[in-house]
Amino acid sequence: MPGDEFDIIREHFTRQPVAREDVLLGVGDDAALLLVPAGAELVVCMDTLVAGIHFSEATPPAAIGHKALAVNLSDLAAMGAEPAWATLALTLPERHPVWLADFARGFFALADHYHVQLVGGDTTHGPLSVTVQAHGFIRNGKALRRSGAQPGDRIYVTGTLGDAGLALQLRSAASEGLRKRLDYPQPRIDAGLALRKYASAVIDVSDGLLADLGHLLEHDALGARLDVDALPHSQAFLEAIDQPGPGPHPPYYELPLSAGDDYELCFTVPPQHCAPVEQRLDALACGCTAIGVIEHQPGIRCYYRDGSDYQPASRGYLHFFDE
Ligand code: ADP
Ligand code: MG
Repeated sequence: MPGDEFDIIREHFTRQPVAREDVLLGVGDDAALLLVPAGAELVVCMDTLVAGIHFSEATPPAAIGHKALAVNLSDLAAMGAEPAWATLALTLPERHPVWLADFARGFFALADHYHVQLVGGDTTHGPLSVTVQAHGFIRNGKALRRSGAQPGDRIYVTGTLGDAGLALQLRSAASEGLRKRLDYPQPRIDAGLALRKYASAVIDVSDGLLADLGHLLEHDALGARLDVDALPHSQAFLEAIDQPGPGPHPPYYELPLSAGDDYELCFTVPPQHCAPVEQRLDALACGCTAIGVIEHQPGIRCYYRDGSDYQPASRGYLHFFDE
């Protein structure tokens, strides 16, 4: 395949309509030349999707292209950054023009939407794996971090939780709506931008709410109280679990708490900023939901609305639907 590498790049990765003025030199030279605006910090992140681990044979190539970029834009969103550029390292087992065209379509649809320009990458032969590095800007000193929460801050999440986890468990029985949430996660870029003046700490939910909120709390040795009856569910989720669920840990609570891959933002807001945050986020398609409060005592404590304890079954992967 090495001889074909240039054809692949030319055919699939140099046709993007987005052409940013801060890209002095993009794909095609030994490296890209990029201009960071004065007064801004460069925000950089990278994520890899490996075949068989992060996606399956059943995942459409367009979804792989979308998701490889989306998970990175989600990290930029969690920093409050405005996305700008991406690089793409593709390891391919074979040259498959239809696969590549679909992959590129999914990747560029999302890139174009957020005005992200692909400025370089690498193409190699081997087991299928996709690495994207994303770059964005934030005004000096204004980045949203995982640290910074204070006792008394309210805890929010954007959108809904548990959809991707439910799609994974139901596999081919998952509805179109649930599968879309797993295959085409929407990075909450606008929410991240709207949170810049208000949030005390932000993280994106890739590994499950309890795990990711746990990372946020670790930074300041704090704890949290969560109202499990406040966890936001999508219509698709409610329709899919409208069937007898097993045991004392119904997926209604467990999936939003523990399942990953939703790529929502979890953030904390000092009480005086809650009203403007709710107003701004409610104006976006994803909206936001208050789910708890930061406390001094380390650990995450879950309660039903009536005040009784809820003990989560696990922070990790659960097999609710394997009978
Ligand atoms: P080099 O051998 O100097 O590393 P490459 O042949 O790897 O050069 O890449 C040639 C050009 O194509 C570079 O600008 C590189 O950034 C770009 N490129 C390679 N693979 C990709 C890809 N998958 N997506 C976007 N750009 C790519
Ligand atoms: Mg190279």
